[in-house]
Amino acid sequence: MKLSFKVRTAAMTTLLIAAVAAVSVAGMLLMSRSVADTRTQQELIKAVERNVDEVEYKSGVLEIEDDFAYYAGGVYCDVYSSELERIGGETPSDLLSDAELSAGKLRKMHSGDSEYYIYDTRLDFIKYEYEIDVISGQIIKYEAGVAESEALEAQPYRPTRFDGGVSSDEAVAIALAHAGVSADKAKIISVELPAYSDRQVFAVQFTCDEPLYPPVWIRGVYPAGAAESAFGTVISIIFYILPLFLILSAVGAYLLARRTIRPVKEITDSARAISSGSDLSKRIKVPDGSAEITDLVRTFNDMLERLESSFESEKRFTSDASHELRTPLAVIKAECEYALGANADEADRLEALESVSKQGDKMAQLVDALLAVSRAEQGRGRLKLERLDIGETVRDICDGFVTDKGISLTCTAGNGLSVLADRALIGRLLDNLLSNAVRYGREGGKIEVTVTRVGDNAEIKVSDDGIGIAQEDIPKIWDRFYRADPSRSSDGFGLGLALVRQIALLHSGSVGVESRLGDGSTFTVTMPLDK
Ligand code: ADP
Repeated sequence: MKLSFKVRTAAMTTLLIAAVAAVSVAGMLLMSRSVADTRTQQELIKAVERNVDEVEYKSGVLEIEDDFAYYAGGVYCDVYSSELERIGGETPSDLLSDAELSAGKLRKMHSGDSEYYIYDTRLDFIKYEYEIDVISGQIIKYEAGVAESEALEAQPYRPTRFDGGVSSDEAVAIALAHAGVSADKAKIISVELPAYSDRQVFAVQFTCDEPLYPPVWIRGVYPAGAAESAFGTVISIIFYILPLFLILSAVGAYLLARRTIRPVKEITDSARAISSGSDLSKRIKVPDGSAEITDLVRTFNDMLERLESSFESEKRFTSDASHELRTPLAVIKAECEYALGANADEADRLEALESVSKQGDKMAQLVDALLAVSRAEQGRGRLKLERLDIGETVRDICDGFVTDKGISLTCTAGNGLSVLADRALIGRLLDNLLSNAVRYGREGGKIEVTVTRVGDNAEIKVSDDGIGIAQEDIPKIWDRFYRADPSRSSDGFGLGLALVRQIALLHSGSVGVESRLGDGSTFTVTMPLDK
């Protein structure tokens, strides 16, 4: 079954749109998924790192500050001991992971149906802060926290002493002794007298390589389901929208195709009307529409034009040919009836017979000319091409041509111009032109024939000083059976020049004429040289 152009275009367009939509949706989903993944991971790490400062040892006891965010931005944070005991946190039990602690590594985990990311960070309490009374040398407060790397730079301090109190060096020694860190393992960060304190205290900060308190961990958990469910929504929206979208595009494509194809339908209808009515004079209406369709219609109309003219000329040819044959036939019939009549004597019969023979000759000539024209029209296939010196050939033909009416014939043709041609046809061409020159020439006039080279062509010119041709007749004299003035050329059939033109075309050449009524004519045949 052949599908119509409309249905096929609509189906193909829809398929194409479906394919493009599927690829783009898949691409978009993948892309947004990976973007979401990356964002999730960044959020998770940020949430964990933000909590690092909120866990400290104060006076030897681990404290989780109020600012610690147990749940923020979809991330759950818990505090664990190195033995994976939860010290603080609110993560729902289905998300609690028994995965080993691993610092600074983001991992994707599965537990039952749920999927989540986890991220651990380890807190080493290696930064100590002590406050020591400047007078009594008593420890007022001490804390151990996580050291930020930029805070680890040791700052030189100016040793100070208070009357009746401790010196800064003594304050450091008290702090180190309390922490149980030997002076060579500690790095003093700062020793200051903070202005904010209501008591006069030394604030001593130092770090040591070996932590004095056991490390704790912060584990962040981000349930992947949050991102997944967003995806689910997008996919289900697409699932409902896509078929609707495809139906709309199929209908759109069908309507568009129908609109595009409408002129073609008009063309088909017109062509069908022309063909069924066999009226070649009809033309297809040029439809409004695309340039391609307009072009198609114009080409089609041109073809009809040519077909019509060739049909017309074919019709004319047949009717002219039968007309030409009918006249001698009518004469023959009349002469025969006359000769066979009771009143005809011997002399009458002889005269009738002579007339019949003359008409027979005329018919033979006509049939001969018709055959020549039709053979020439059959194309190059029947040509017997040979390499000819066209000057020499023309000279030979002129030498063998006999004029009458006292007309002189001169021929100027050099040697050395080669053409590929059929000798017999060239003979016929020249013979026709010369015969015409004589037939339409003046008594005692002259005919001049020349052969010259013009560019890559050989040019044969036949000029006479005869009656010439009226300008309006010039385009028509090449038509079969056309005679400019039949009264002046009673013995011609009007086929000579048609044959001349056909022979010139067969040799890839052309023929033209320059003429003025009463001034004579010059026929020019051009043929390509054989190099
Ligand atoms: P015809 O058999 O009538 O000569 P052609 O085809 O040879 O047929 O020529 C067509 C018409 O062209 C002629 O009837 C004549 O009117 C005109 N014609 C052809 N050759 C010449 C010429 N040399 N001088 C004037 N008219 C010519």
